[in-house]
Amino acid sequence: MTQEWLEGHHARKRFGQNFLHDRHWIERIARAIDPKPGDELIEIGPGQAALTREVVNLAGHETAVEIDRDLAAFLRGQFQPGELDLIEADALTLDWRTVLEGRRLRVFGNLPYNISSPLLFALLPAAGRVIDQHFMLQKEVVDRMTAQPGSKTYGRLSVMLQYRYVMHKLFDVPPGAFTPAPKVTSSIVRMVPKAESELLPVDGEVFGALVAAAFQQRRKTLRNAVADFLDAEGISALGISPTARAETLTVADFVALANGAAARRSA
Ligand code: SAM
Repeated sequence: MTQEWLEGHHARKRFGQNFLHDRHWIERIARAIDPKPGDELIEIGPGQAALTREVVNLAGHETAVEIDRDLAAFLRGQFQPGELDLIEADALTLDWRTVLEGRRLRVFGNLPYNISSPLLFALLPAAGRVIDQHFMLQKEVVDRMTAQPGSKTYGRLSVMLQYRYVMHKLFDVPPGAFTPAPKVTSSIVRMVPKAESELLPVDGEVFGALVAAAFQQRRKTLRNAVADFLDAEGISALGISPTARAETLTVADFVALANGAAARRSA
């Protein structure tokens, strides 16, 4: 089926609009998602339906969340009844814990790059009901998500997401696959939530706050960066060096620090 475009639609920068136009990449991304009839597929930012059409062809149905009214109106005219359920909303403020209540979700999208990190954080509380997430993001963001301790790109995003998901970078997509072409290379990442039983027990709020503080000023030693949570003695007692830098610690180290801080608070 040929792709129909919304004539005269000017890509809106504020909505991070870069539309996929290259069949090769559209098909390759859809194959990576591997949509099947019966899957509860939910797309963030369907735009002009490049991926939407492909996924609906394979699975028969999807739900999509689009913020741009003009695109939402266009999309409504593109599909047969039953093929597409459209939620005209901001994916950042949608309650991902309750949308399509009672269903296990397969989330995907070529995300608006200007809000990609906040969106990933907005989805975190819903990880328990997600089967998998496939996203196109800036390559640099995917590198940060999947970075290992000791690398320059390892930071808050790596720790918070690696705690909750197993993540794999699948492949890069060149700027020329989009209209307008972005300035940077993009990558496809697959995120599969870990089973609840695999998660290291931790108070989520203390963990999130401690990880944020630890990476706020990357050059600080740990004892200075997390001084509001634990003193040097408390850090050493966990077998972690107070003079270490946050970027050398594993996810398990951060969990230990958060548990140490929570225990100290309640003592
Ligand atoms: N999926 C299409 C494609 O691959 O060609 C469009 C991708 S474009 C990078 C991002 C899409 O997300 C646009 O359609 C944009 O309007 C939409 N969008 C931007 N911010 C959004 C938000 N907060 N909530 C929902 N959709 C949003």
